[in-house]
Amino acid sequence: MSRFFSEKYSNLVPYTPGEQPKERKYIKLNTNESPFPPSEIALKMAAEASKRLMLYPDPDCKELTAALADLLDVSTDEIVWTNGSDDVLNFAFMAFCDDEHPAIFPDITYGFYSVFAEANRIPYRVIPLKEDFSISIEDFKRQKGTVFIANPNAPTGIALTLEQIEDLLLSDPNRVVVIDEAYVDFGGESCVPLIKKYDNLLVTQTFSKSRSMAGARLGFAVGSKDLISDIHTLRYATNPYNINTMTMAAGIGVLRDEDYTRTNCAKIIENRAYISSELKKLGFEMTDSKANFIFVRHPAIHGEKLYLFLKENGILVRHFSKARISEYCRITIGSREEMDELLKKIQIILEELV
Ligand code: PMP
Repeated sequence: MSRFFSEKYSNLVPYTPGEQPKERKYIKLNTNESPFPPSEIALKMAAEASKRLMLYPDPDCKELTAALADLLDVSTDEIVWTNGSDDVLNFAFMAFCDDEHPAIFPDITYGFYSVFAEANRIPYRVIPLKEDFSISIEDFKRQKGTVFIANPNAPTGIALTLEQIEDLLLSDPNRVVVIDEAYVDFGGESCVPLIKKYDNLLVTQTFSKSRSMAGARLGFAVGSKDLISDIHTLRYATNPYNINTMTMAAGIGVLRDEDYTRTNCAKIIENRAYISSELKKLGFEMTDSKANFIFVRHPAIHGEKLYLFLKENGILVRHFSKARISEYCRITIGSREEMDELLKKIQIILEELV
């Protein structure tokens, strides 16, 4: 830390992203990226757009917004785009939380929520998941404050139903509920249609997972016109040109290639069923994941040991040292070949143990 760093950040512990090692080629099953390349249409449009890099991009993302509005059946003023969905989540903390409106989220969830709260000096409370790692809506209903829930949750993959979310929204129409749908395309139920009914609902999504564009950094939020206008105010107060020309073009391209996205999601769901059933045969226990990852533990191997063994053997998965989940590993669902390679390595470590 330099001697110039503002005191207000002196205790800030930043988010730790999953490893992105370059020293060796790994099968990367640690950051929930897609194993499939970006859409060909997206690539072509991004390349074409690169010829316009001397100009600023459209700060309103008009064409991209129109394409998404059409897909989601919402109006263009109910959408805001950001540099990955992390960015719009940060804006939501800035916009809808303060001392009177603390942030509330589950104890086990996306690790960035507490960092957003700390960075913006917002008070927050965590609500413990139930014993089975599911979210207790009743516990959230009892707490005042702005709610942040990942649905499906991470790293458990467990999804809430629309009825549960509606129950939460109805319990207090005077607080904002942010539903982070980063993983919704792999079997969850999106609550985007609920924005027409509840003006306190903000839904965030990303092009990083189901649309194979993690490197392009494209995320968005959907919500009532007024909530979205608040996010635009913050966006224009920080970086109005937040979506670069090539990313915007790639986004328009991938939305023209919706069949490709749907086919890839179906393959991930199929591979998830396959690897889950194979791992269960080997004695693994896991949550009921509706995401592009599974959350697993084995009675004979601690999560950290499995993580280290797989890393030594060229496969990266994610291990969290937090006590409640330290026995687990989160494994991204990759291609069928990657899942078979994973299985092979896991069989080896299990044989070594007996
Ligand atoms: N929400 C959750 C639950 C996530 O796991 C992630 C990815 N790490 C994000 C949001 C943010 O993803 P991105 O910024 O790539 O859109």
